[in-house]
Amino acid sequence: VPVTWSTEEIIAKRNRYYAASQRAFVPYEKPLIIRRGQGQYVWDELGNRLIDLLGMNLCISVGHAHPRIVAAVKAQVEELTHCTTMFYHPVPAHFAEELARTMPAGHDWVVHFTNSGAEAIDLALMMARIATGNQDLIALRNSYHGATYGAQGVTGVMNFRHNTGQLSNITFTAEPNQYRGAFGSGTQPYLDDLDRVIRHTTSGQLAGLLIEPVQGYGGIVPMPEGYMKGAFERVRAHGGLCIVDEVQSGFGKTGDAMWCFDAHDVVPDIVVLAKGIGNGLPLGAVVAKRDVAKAMDGKFLFHTYGANPVACAAGREVLRVIEDEKLIENARDVGARLHEGLMDLKARFSIIGDVRGRGFMQAVELVRDRGTKEPAPEETAYVFERTRVHGLVLSKSGNDKNILRMVPPLCLAMEDVEPVIDAFAQSFADLAAR
Ligand code: PMP
Repeated sequence: VPVTWSTEEIIAKRNRYYAASQRAFVPYEKPLIIRRGQGQYVWDELGNRLIDLLGMNLCISVGHAHPRIVAAVKAQVEELTHCTTMFYHPVPAHFAEELARTMPAGHDWVVHFTNSGAEAIDLALMMARIATGNQDLIALRNSYHGATYGAQGVTGVMNFRHNTGQLSNITFTAEPNQYRGAFGSGTQPYLDDLDRVIRHTTSGQLAGLLIEPVQGYGGIVPMPEGYMKGAFERVRAHGGLCIVDEVQSGFGKTGDAMWCFDAHDVVPDIVVLAKGIGNGLPLGAVVAKRDVAKAMDGKFLFHTYGANPVACAAGREVLRVIEDEKLIENARDVGARLHEGLMDLKARFSIIGDVRGRGFMQAVELVRDRGTKEPAPEETAYVFERTRVHGLVLSKSGNDKNILRMVPPLCLAMEDVEPVIDAFAQSFADLAAR
């Protein structure tokens, strides 16, 4: 039975049959229906082309309908769609090896595949507790780690925590937001806060720290230089493990390296991956040092769709495409131009309080007054709607809903930068002229 492409019918069906909580997380006034994607572009149901500055929520890492990913997926679907980890198959086995090899040398890395990022977070938290024998975990305020029971308990942003019992023994330290953080700019005040949190809100015996190298849903808040290193030292001094959530920042998004933590001169104990791992195919992974992962030995650990051969076939090809097409370098170079263009906009439009990010993780924060930094959520919503009219897809983010967030697929090209900046300029001009 063919599906409908009538805008009204799709909206009506979704309103009628989706649970309200799923419908709530929709950014645009009029829902955006996506019909097709190619490279860094998507088309809506009416045939309008938009530049996908969000990689469909960061899942499209190397581009929509990348021919090599399509071919790998097609070949695998035709041969075998699924078998679970109960049965051996070479594709997940190769992919585990290839992922492990992307991690820092000199350590013995092993992989657990999961169905999603949140499941991988749950597993990482459990692993840290069992491996250390300690319970206390530290997360950062303004973090997002997923929607499962466990991942919700370590999430500290927006409206994702439900009125239910959460994971216990979790405390939050202030995120080192250099623009509007609780302790101003700099690294040391935030490491001092971590010291206080450890001293006053934990037993002093830690299971671990969970950290995004660049907070994603929190509105692209990169960890400042020295923060991760200082935090890791403090947590390890209290027996804890360091868990890095690379679900958004991984796969070269910041243009520095395959893993964002590399640029911070640290080696985590556990790395959590998802989203871009399969270029849109559902998959998550926990990559951990062997002696840490050993904590889970002796009991069954089973995720039905984890290690799905189709998703893993896509994942294998993602790693190769990133390398063959030099996509990390592309994110660095095109991202630098994008950043420059956004900085030019900041010089032209006083509503822009901050432009921040590296590579293809960029954000523009809107304020009513650059001195007071009063957030401008209503203006942000307006500009956001206009960016769609001018041909862009991005996201509105942050606790104050005043941040425009971009994390495009790694194939966004130099030629795209000018149209992107023009579209933003027109959107900000629309706001000024309203
Ligand atoms: N960690 C981060 C940083 C994320 O952004 C997300 C998803 N947005 C998750 C974990 C959870 O991943 P999933 O939605 O696949 O469960």
